[in-house]
Amino acid sequence: MNRRGFLKTNGTLFSTLPFLNIIPGSIMDLLEDNIHEFKIGRFQCTVFRDLIFKYKAKDYFINVDSMEVQSELSRFDITTDIIPSPYISLLLKDNTRTVLIDSGIGFSDEPIVFKGKEFVLRGQLSNLLERKGISKNGITDVILTHFHPDHIGGVFSNKGQLNYPNATFHMHHTEWDFWHSSKSVAQPPLFKFFVEKNISPLQDEKVNFIKGDYQEIIDGIVSVEAPGHTAGQIALLISSNNENLLYISDAFLHPLHMEHLDWRTSFDMEHKMAKKTRTKLLDLASNDTTRVNAFHFDFPGMGRVDTIKKGWRWVYDK
Ligand SMILES: [Zn+2]
Repeated sequence: MNRRGFLKTNGTLFSTLPFLNIIPGSIMDLLEDNIHEFKIGRFQCTVFRDLIFKYKAKDYFINVDSMEVQSELSRFDITTDIIPSPYISLLLKDNTRTVLIDSGIGFSDEPIVFKGKEFVLRGQLSNLLERKGISKNGITDVILTHFHPDHIGGVFSNKGQLNYPNATFHMHHTEWDFWHSSKSVAQPPLFKFFVEKNISPLQDEKVNFIKGDYQEIIDGIVSVEAPGHTAGQIALLISSNNENLLYISDAFLHPLHMEHLDWRTSFDMEHKMAKKTRTKLLDLASNDTTRVNAFHFDFPGMGRVDTIKKGWRWVYDK
């Protein structure tokens, strides 16, 4: 998400930041709807819904006529110009490791002060892990696909305590370098604030900086370079016993981005690179054995990619 798109979406930087203050209605009553479980070979997989955010269609598809967008969105039962979008985390568990992929927006019981303004975070990941009996101390690895707030906000508590004290944190070195260099100067100050709070202090913790493409970071979990949305975003290819899962993070924000590779979002840093990444991931995904998990698609974001005459198409799991 860049500053322009961010401001355009929300009007002002602070007063209407829904992802910071939203309390998903009766989330405790709907606990089961916020947790989705399945298996990939030896991995027990759980998708948690941290919260739901709402985006404006014109920010999801910035270079497309709004009538065309609306007509395409109606195929997904969206008849307004608002697109509901979950934030998720994916937990992978086998006999030796408990791996968390992305950390949610975070939760704060007290207001956080940023530039003299107060806000609170209402991510539900901590609650949901607790309800499932998953101890944060038992998490051995945390993989951060990129450094936008909805993916890193839960690394530290609002009191500055590391939420996963025994974990090794995996991230691509390009993402780290970008956010810790002058290249990130044009990024929204609030995003930089999240990085300063949740990423920079990791320099004193166990960090694995991924270098290069297709790196096996944990047995059966391979990082795939997926730049464009951010400088060093990664996707993840999870494989076990001939079953595969591709975690595409934010390379696609909506299934329509798979059908229309030229439809740009205001949240990608570099459109040409984002398109190249989309093609690469669609190629990887479009086979009979690969399931796909998409961070911002309808929860739990599980489906597959079909090859069609003119390209690719997303199919949600039934
Ligand atoms: Zn995201």
